[in-house]
Amino acid sequence: MEKKKILVLGGGFGGVFAAKALEKLGRGTLEVQLVNNNNYFVFQPLLPEVASSSINAADAVVPLRQLLTNVQVRQAQVMGIDFAKKAVTVMQGARMTPVELRYDELVFALGTGVDLARIPGMADHSLTMKDLTDAHMLRTHVIGCLETADVTTETLVKDQLLTFVVVGAGFSGVETAAETRELIRRALPYYRNIKPEEIRMYLIEYAPRILPTFPGDLAAYATKQLEKNGIHVLTGIGTKSATSTGVELTNGRIINSSTVVATIGNGPHPLVQQLGLDLHWGRIKTDRYMRVPGHDHVWALGDAALIPLVDNPQEDPADYATQTAQFAVREGYQLAQNIVAKFKGQELKYFAYTSKGSLASLGMSKAVADVYGVKLSGLLAWLLWRGFYLSFLPGFAAKFRVGVNWILNSIMPPNIVQLRMPPPATRYIHFWKGDKVFEPGMLIDGFYTVINGSFKLTIDNPETGEHFEKVFGPGEHFGERVLIKSELRTGLVEALEDGLLLFIAQKDFTRFARAFPFLDQYFKEYIEKTFGGPDKAFAPGNVAAQQPELEKTP
Ligand SMILES: Cc1cc2nc3c(=O)[nH]c(=O)nc-3n(C[C@H](O)[C@H](O)[C@H](O)COP(=O)(O)OP(=O)(O)OC[C@H]3O[C@@H](n4cnc5c(N)ncnc54)[C@H](O)[C@@H]3O)c2cc1C
Repeated sequence: MEKKKILVLGGGFGGVFAAKALEKLGRGTLEVQLVNNNNYFVFQPLLPEVASSSINAADAVVPLRQLLTNVQVRQAQVMGIDFAKKAVTVMQGARMTPVELRYDELVFALGTGVDLARIPGMADHSLTMKDLTDAHMLRTHVIGCLETADVTTETLVKDQLLTFVVVGAGFSGVETAAETRELIRRALPYYRNIKPEEIRMYLIEYAPRILPTFPGDLAAYATKQLEKNGIHVLTGIGTKSATSTGVELTNGRIINSSTVVATIGNGPHPLVQQLGLDLHWGRIKTDRYMRVPGHDHVWALGDAALIPLVDNPQEDPADYATQTAQFAVREGYQLAQNIVAKFKGQELKYFAYTSKGSLASLGMSKAVADVYGVKLSGLLAWLLWRGFYLSFLPGFAAKFRVGVNWILNSIMPPNIVQLRMPPPATRYIHFWKGDKVFEPGMLIDGFYTVINGSFKLTIDNPETGEHFEKVFGPGEHFGERVLIKSELRTGLVEALEDGLLLFIAQKDFTRFARAFPFLDQYFKEYIEKTFGGPDKAFAPGNVAAQQPELEKTP
């Protein structure tokens, strides 16, 4: 008999545990294939510890091929689904070419996306905490801030570098703030020019209290503990906008900071929005068996799915499975049983599960736990937190590696090696009114196009006393002299109102302009027209760059 093809999309908690159970229950009768964009499974609850250097990035993940030895694992990007044809299109391989995969039953477990579009600037200026790259970037960024703050003598810049903001105080926000604070605390003895009292960290939550899924008294304990660790907890306040220099809160307060971590904004997976499925709260509606109504061979689970726990669910989140790892794992088992039962012509079973509780780490060997109705806090809760996640990690090798990381981290100095990741060559940068884009004496970095708002360029020639001013609006540009010379800036550009610029790094802009002779010509003529030609007063190179006052070694 031909084996039935089961295609699982997504290698997170839902997809992995469904594939594992399918392979076991349907051995010999099912051909299980799992598609994931990375070749590893991310244990998300440990990401804040990766950010804090407690665990090496590669040790918080498990290779999918070693986890699912009898499942065909395919590293590819899911691009589309044709339900009528029962086919999924994925992009894969060195040239990222499309490939069509056929299925008899499809399991959708791609998780959620991040949607920060409601808060201007947040998507462009915040770090997120969803996958391994995010955790690695946060760690690198925090260490980078300490390195720069240690050598700068500009007080304002130093303040900004040493101020850290985490937005959202669910368990990922709380754990991210606590672990980042812990990394900074342990790293500070190696940064002689930074005093502990110069560090400021804020945890911002729109709801009246943090950790909404925990009982009130545990949330109160957690708040007290975080405050004790030097984290200012601001509740009942949202964020209004963000720029490269900080966040604006809904009460009008501006916090200048070089680090904003957004743990808010769980949105629908981008693919889900194109499939024409019935969505609610951005999640795919399923029946109680996890089947997607209207599509006989499609199932959904995990964070992507809205699985009812009662017959007539109301607009109450308690009527649905929660978006947690413990639910996704249970859903995976039940979904596999239902698919096997379907092929055997047996009765399917409703998904039913009651949360066993929640745990959240607070740093400094403290945690809160609400397990089987028993409330714990402090060191005991923290030991429980560690023990629970160690047992929950799939595979002996992963448990062993994480255990060794924890032991080494408790007896060794923190790892403050900064493995730098270059910023994207092209990026949006938001500015508030009065912000400086660049000023005389700064090294030329790139080319800017105004997307919205207005920006004023001022150049003063100290030798001739001449003064030049120009205001740029949407569609106009400045900084094009990077095509001519790589030297220090001679002009000052300030935002006249809140605005947005598109930045292109010097090397990439120069390559691009040189590749299109008409562009190169356009910029040469523009410089001639605007600044009066290469031999005129404000032509690039004719105004001596005003050297910044040499910083004194702190
Ligand atoms: C920082 C953090 C801490 C957390 N802590 C806890 C905790 O302590 N306890 C708890 O119970 N829960 C916790 N959670 C929540 C828990 O991790 C999620 O509920 C769980 O991961 C959901 O599983 P999933 O399989 O639905 O989605 P995911 O685990 O997100 O898996 C989705 C998979 O699909 C892949 N994918 C996405 N798009 C594509 C595509 N187009 N093509 C190919 N592959 C794709 C992704 O790479 C990923 O591997 C935490 C979450 C975070 C972010």
